[in-house]
Amino acid sequence: MVQTTCPYCGVGCGITAEVNQHTVTIKGDKTHPANFGRLCSKGAALADTLDLNDRLLYPELHHQRVSWETALTKVANEFKRIIREHGANAIAFYVSGQLLTEDYYVANKLMKGFLGTANIDTNSRLCMASSVAGHKRAFGSDTVSGCYEDLELADLVVLVGSNLAWCHPVLYQRLAAAKEQRPRLKIVVIDPRYTATSDIADLHLPIRSGTDVWLFNGLLNFLRTHDHLDYEFLEAHTHGAGAALKSARESAATIPQIAQLCGLTEMDVAEFYRLFAKTDKTVTVYSQGVNQSSAGTDKVNSIINCHLATGRIGKPGATPFSVTGQPNAMGGREVGALANQLVAHLDFKPEHLALVQQFWQSPVIAQQPGLKAVELYDAIVAGQIKAIWIMATNPVVSLPHADKVKQALGMCELVVVSDCVRYTDTTEFAHVLLPALAWGEKEGTVTNSERRISRQRAFLPVPGDAKPDWWIITEVARRLGFAETAFAYQSSADIFREYAALSGEQNKGTRDFDISGLANLSDADYQRLSPVQWPLKSPTEVGTTRLFSDYQFFTADNKAHLIAIMPRAPVHLPNRDYPFILNTGRTRDQWHTMTRTGKSARLLSHTSESYVEIHPQDAGLLRIQVGDLVTVSSELGQVVVRVKISDHQQPGNVFIPMHWNGQNSSQARVGALIPPVTDPISGQPEFKHTPVKVERYQPA
Ligand code: SF4
Repeated sequence: MVQTTCPYCGVGCGITAEVNQHTVTIKGDKTHPANFGRLCSKGAALADTLDLNDRLLYPELHHQRVSWETALTKVANEFKRIIREHGANAIAFYVSGQLLTEDYYVANKLMKGFLGTANIDTNSRLCMASSVAGHKRAFGSDTVSGCYEDLELADLVVLVGSNLAWCHPVLYQRLAAAKEQRPRLKIVVIDPRYTATSDIADLHLPIRSGTDVWLFNGLLNFLRTHDHLDYEFLEAHTHGAGAALKSARESAATIPQIAQLCGLTEMDVAEFYRLFAKTDKTVTVYSQGVNQSSAGTDKVNSIINCHLATGRIGKPGATPFSVTGQPNAMGGREVGALANQLVAHLDFKPEHLALVQQFWQSPVIAQQPGLKAVELYDAIVAGQIKAIWIMATNPVVSLPHADKVKQALGMCELVVVSDCVRYTDTTEFAHVLLPALAWGEKEGTVTNSERRISRQRAFLPVPGDAKPDWWIITEVARRLGFAETAFAYQSSADIFREYAALSGEQNKGTRDFDISGLANLSDADYQRLSPVQWPLKSPTEVGTTRLFSDYQFFTADNKAHLIAIMPRAPVHLPNRDYPFILNTGRTRDQWHTMTRTGKSARLLSHTSESYVEIHPQDAGLLRIQVGDLVTVSSELGQVVVRVKISDHQQPGNVFIPMHWNGQNSSQARVGALIPPVTDPISGQPEFKHTPVKVERYQPA
């Protein structure tokens, strides 16, 4: 029996895998502190996804099988040529929250420290970049202060833009169990849709899409006018309260104004404000509904402002809490796989650059942030980027303006894709395909939403010629001529030790991310590493449950910063031609672009095809029925999907799941509809607010 970690969402559940001849038995790991044995439908069906059908098992050049030597030499030689002709900034890496931390670290090291460009970004840009930016503004670092247990200890849990029941199901199970045991625990769900999560809510606020800042600025103003501010905390431990309170007052002062702006009843707004004001032990959970917005960073800070104004941070059951979408989105944030980070929570500051270059003994180092996800593909179309290496992700489905991504890959001089899946919308465009190990075959670590580092362990044999991602990157680095010593890794443990040591170098007691206690783990210690929460400075520690208990933040003045925010509307508003607001998100049983969960018949049985969910009133006006095919179009593209009618949608709003791809449903790639509008600070795309029209499908 092997203890490992689920490869899907950011809850990061522990799993036990038992292999018996031809069967694998997957169970929840009762000893893992994220799930204590629980699993959701996706985790429980993992054994259905392990076959080798559709696996990429051998390197390919122009879709012909070749040796590793040929494929790696081709990549390295093309990189050399392009760098010689156009400079290092003509190379880009687009990586993924599916990668293990060790893979991520080596990819980032090669790009920023050896090629000397920061044009490496991760698909986590699509899921939590706004939380990263909001945390950095408020705390001086990308620190999630709380932990899962805080949701169980709270007297009030506010879920904003988070369908926890479907997107973080085991955390939802823990919350639901806590509510069962302690009926005084109140739950407020703030979401334009009535979701499965709303079932356990004491109050559901069906907020008008995009108006969160009005609601939270209104809350901040309410806390001030009703004498609920913690002035002692504000005075001693924060900065910027005056300006933030002024903005809150100016954006919408009264409950009737806020109710009108947010499309809510005055009674519901007043009830939420009263609940928040009187409940010290409050946790506010936020996710994609907050992050995936052109004002995502401001939304995050408007929430954090309310916690800081009441001193609700760093205490059991009292914290703002962002939940990450992917299994290792947090690991990507740690290693600097976002184009605007350096590594180990360090930035592009001269002293950080010098420290990292010295540590890596690297010939160059990227001096400034690189291009973010959407910008990377625009830069290919503009002719600035000539080569892209895509690792473990499917941008032709998942990025906004997905047809432009297709165009970009179609015209790029060199497209390298390393993946475990042979046929995706993205592998179609690859000149070089590099087979990577899949879950169950590889070794490394991931970090979940509560900063908990857990091991992923192999329990299956290596199929075909597949290799670990870190090995593939390292072999390219060697062929690029970089010092053997810089990429001399023999195992993921070697990489982890180096990374842990770097986190201690940068720390010197002044910053948050520090796992230097793990820098000297032996191979055997690494192999048996139990889940730990960073920061931790000794291998015998289990780590830090919650941060900021001492109210020491990572800003220059050690104070938390309230941010003055004025609300602003989403960039594209519905109009006469495109009268509906399209919202996108997950279904209960599918994961990302379905390359794995799509293999499981039991998972497909929940929802077997894509759909658009629409309010009965709108369906009546359009004269469409349940099961009809409709065309949903934006200014950029269209999809053809089935109709679901539900009053869980508000009139004027429609919802389409994000999962379906061009391989399983040629006309259901919802990314093709989404405009490439991004938050100006975080670069995160606005997936939740696209004007569309809905028409009965007319076959050509
Ligand atoms: Fe996996 Fe997330 Fe389900 Fe846990 S909740 S089993 S991590 S998908």
